[in-house]
Order: sequence, then C-alpha cells, then structure tokens
Amino acid sequence: EKTVVLITGCSSGIGLGLAVRLASDASCRFKVYATMRNLAKKERLLECVRGCHASTLEILQLDVTDPLSLAAAAQQLQEQRVDVLVCNAGVGLMGPLETCSYQAMKTIFDVNVFGTIGTIQAFLPGMKRRKAGKIIISSSVGALQGIPFNAVYCASKFAVEGLCESLAVILQQFNVHITLIECGPVNTSFLANLQRMDTEGCVLQGLDPQTCALYSQYLQHSQSLFRDVAQDTEEVLQVFLEAICTPCPPLRSFTTQFFMPLTRLKLTSPDGSEYVRAMHKFVFSAGEAQGDRV
Ligand code: NAD
Repeated sequence: EKTVVLITGCSSGIGLGLAVRLASDASCRFKVYATMRNLAKKERLLECVRGCHASTLEILQLDVTDPLSLAAAAQQLQEQRVDVLVCNAGVGLMGPLETCSYQAMKTIFDVNVFGTIGTIQAFLPGMKRRKAGKIIISSSVGALQGIPFNAVYCASKFAVEGLCESLAVILQQFNVHITLIECGPVNTSFLANLQRMDTEGCVLQGLDPQTCALYSQYLQHSQSLFRDVAQDTEEVLQVFLEAICTPCPPLRSFTTQFFMPLTRLKLTSPDGSEYVRAMHKFVFSAGEAQGDRV
C-alpha cells in the first residue's frame, strides 16, 4: 500500500521539489496530495511530473491561513488516511524591526505560526485515531538562533519549534512522530518571495544611520552566504526523504552542519553572551575585513 503524503506550499521551492520527487518515485511507493494556495500556479508542478504515474499525484487548493480552506481540504480527505503531513508553507520578512509594518508581521505569523498550527490541527485527530503518522516541518536555522534583521521571521520560526517540541512529548504515546527539518539557506525562490525592506526604504523612513549601515552590511553578508553555502533543493530533499522513510525519525534533523558551531553556543554558554558575540562577528566582521562596499 502507498504511503500517503500531504504537502503544503507546493507551487515552488522545497514543497514543489518534494511533491515531484515523491510522485515520480520509481517504485510508486507514495500517493502525494500536493497542496497550494493558488491553483493557477499548478502548471510548474504538472510540467515537472509529466510522464509520471497519474495515480501518484493529486493537486488540492489549500491556503493555510484560511480556516475554511483547511476545513475543505480535511473534508476532501476524510476517507483518506494521511500517513505523512509536511508543513512546508512559509514566508520570510527581512529588515530593521522599526520598518516592519503590523500588516507584514501579521502575515508572517498567520502563515508560519497559525498556518502550521491549523494544518496540524486538521490532520492530527486522524493520526491519533490510527495510532500512526508523521508530521514533518520545514524549519530553519533561524528557528534555533536569532539572525539579525530577521527578528520577526525568527520569532515565528522559534514559535513553531516550541509548538512541535511540546507536541512531541505527547505524540510518542500515539506513535505519531514529529520532525523539524532545520534548513540553512536553500536555493529556492524563498529570497525572491520574502518581504524585504530595502536600504533606501530605511533611509526614507528616517531610520537612524547606524542601523541603516548595519542593515546594508547584513544584506551583503546574506548575499554572499546564499552564494557560498546555500544548498541545492535536491540535497535538502534527501533529508526530508529520510524522515519520511525512517520508522521513528528524531525531533530535529539538520540539512547542513555549517551552522552547528553557532548553534552549539546556546548550550555551552546558556546566558547567550557568546552566541551574541559570535553571530555579530560572523555577520559584521567579514565585510570589514574585505573592505566592504556599503
Ligand atoms: P518558497 O518561497 O519557494 O516556498 C514557500 C511556499 O509557501 C510557496 O510556494 C508559497 O506560495 C507558499 N505559501 C505562502 N503562503 C501560503 C499560504 N497562506 N498557504 C499555502 N501556501 C503558502 O521557499 P522555500 O525555500 O521552498 O520555503 C519552504 C519552507 O522552507 C518555508 O517554510 C521556509 O521558511 C523554509 N526555509 C527556507 C529556507 C531557504 O533558504 N530557502 C531556509 C530555511 C527554511
């Protein structure tokens, strides 16, 4: 019998890649419900799976921020068990905190936090009833440690860590496994899709020059980080596949070891001072050394 996998946010990036990979599995081991907010964007997914078995993929509309849409999707799958739920839909927000509008912040929390909670709430009862299931979350290094100028995004991703860690304690009794996939930078349209304040906008909003300069330095750091260490989607998908295929996947799974020295500082220096120092150095001193163009 096929493993049934429902994925949110399948119109691009990791969600699209995972849906294609599972639906095109050579041994047809999976039945994929690829969901997306806007069905008008399904062409790319359809193109990518062209030629693969028609019985392995279904595309459904699902806006994780809309309770009616969640209820409709759950209703459509009422008779269908979902073995693996992949909460992948997510958006970013970048800029000095003073420039983040209430509406922008609200959107981030609606998608990343309440969207993830709502999706889990929709499919958890069935998993508990069957005493089987996996919940896999597209999480982030920014869910475990603060990243400058990503405060609101990190806050939303930290929230999901707390959510899942709390659930994991109970869910083991129900044979439901929850796994956070901690991604570093991945080459997807995430950067293009995120809401980003530009430095000019900061100046226009009357932000103090010191913060503007730091932000401009951060943007350069972020660009070179994406250029130098971003992983290809395929590499990251391998970690998702492992979590899907392992009988009892762990609570956290890392796609890269690159940030581990920074992540560890939280444990070795619980008061946070070493992390703050190290992250500052990581982001702001490389540019100076290279004679940064600001
Ligand atoms: P992406 O922007 O290509 O994918 C995000 C998807 O979520 C898009 O298809 C978007 O349409 C969808 N989405 C947004 N709002 C939605 C809503 N209300 N309902 C349903 N879908 C919605 O970027 P990605 O890199 O594939 O991101 C996937 C996940 O991985 C996100 O949760 C992101 O936070 C996480 N992540 C990405 C990176 C990275 O560097 N790319 C790093 C760490 C974590």
